[in-house]
Amino acid sequence: MRKVVMAEYIWIDGQKPTAKLRSKMKVVEAEAIRSVTDLPDWSFDGSSTYQAEGKKSDLLLRPVRYLPNPLKPGTPDVLVLCEVMNPDGSPHWSNTRAPLRAVAERCAAEEPWFGLEQEYTLFEGNRPLGWPDKGFPAPQGGYYCGVGSDEVFGRKLVEAHAEACLRAGLRLCGTNAEVMPAQWEFQVGPLSPLEVSDELWLARWLLYRMGEEYGISATLHPKPVKGDWNGTGCHTNFSTKSMREPGGIKVIEAACEKLRERHDAHIQVYGAHNVERLTGLHETAPITVFRYGVSDRGSSIRIPLQTANEGKGYFEDRRPAANCDPYEVCRIMLETVCG
Ligand code: ADP
Ligand code: MN
Ligand code: MN
Ligand code: MN
Repeated sequence: MRKVVMAEYIWIDGQKPTAKLRSKMKVVEAEAIRSVTDLPDWSFDGSSTYQAEGKKSDLLLRPVRYLPNPLKPGTPDVLVLCEVMNPDGSPHWSNTRAPLRAVAERCAAEEPWFGLEQEYTLFEGNRPLGWPDKGFPAPQGGYYCGVGSDEVFGRKLVEAHAEACLRAGLRLCGTNAEVMPAQWEFQVGPLSPLEVSDELWLARWLLYRMGEEYGISATLHPKPVKGDWNGTGCHTNFSTKSMREPGGIKVIEAACEKLRERHDAHIQVYGAHNVERLTGLHETAPITVFRYGVSDRGSSIRIPLQTANEGKGYFEDRRPAANCDPYEVCRIMLETVCG
């Protein structure tokens, strides 16, 4: 009997303004994968993923992390997260993980932790899941953390996804139904910058893949329904060792002042179409404004009440959109706060 592992190689493409996930399956001759070095480099056609021209289109996939494939229990099959490399082995321009690697190494002594809140919206065809054929559901108010088939759409997928993430060893730490019907959230962390970003991308891949089984697609568009409906974000919670120690609130306030100086640079990498979401309504601050405050969900940066009370902890950057690239978000946060 041939001993093989089916390895799903996952990478991020070069679509603009928002990169998307791609994957393809490689049969690896092995009984099991015991280290990332058991997974060979592979190649793909970059001209089909907005990453290369037609003539010299081969790019490299370099495995950086693997997980047991939670959709194939009882098999040695794995999910493999890859960085995209040029044929000479240098990082490709679309590879945003490589720059984060360098920055994270420089900042490692400060022990940065990130926790990401990934919001998303489930769609069936061209309508949010469970929305009526014509017109709109009842206005927002009862849906956030709701229960009951008139309030909540898609829970079966949401629960299956959470279970799959945990079975795969991803550090998911919670889920909730969001303010707009068919809108949901899961949280990952707290983790180091590379871990949290890798795990967010892998959790996104699982969400899309599992949606196929249900005929449901998930979108990360920051404003999937125009009008009086909440947008979709990726709140980024952050702390360093000195923020988590007594007196850390002073370090947090100093960080907020640094973030004020670099507001525009951050907005640049906080996701496309975010201007539709950061309006000043629906628990956001306008995109042109920077303000921070304790417990203030209309601010750019919220200092949780518990952090203010204890004088130490973490802060929440509420600006990143759901479709942000966590490698870029973590990189700029580290550059601004620790750099
Ligand atoms: P919210 O009240 O904003 O909805 P959530 O409970 O959804 O908050 O998310 C809180 C996030 O904060 C989680 O992702 C968690 O991992 C993260 N978090 C908790 N403690 C820390 C910390 N010390 N540093 C960074 N992130 C943290
Ligand atoms: Mn949340
Ligand atoms: Mn939320
Ligand atoms: Mn939040």
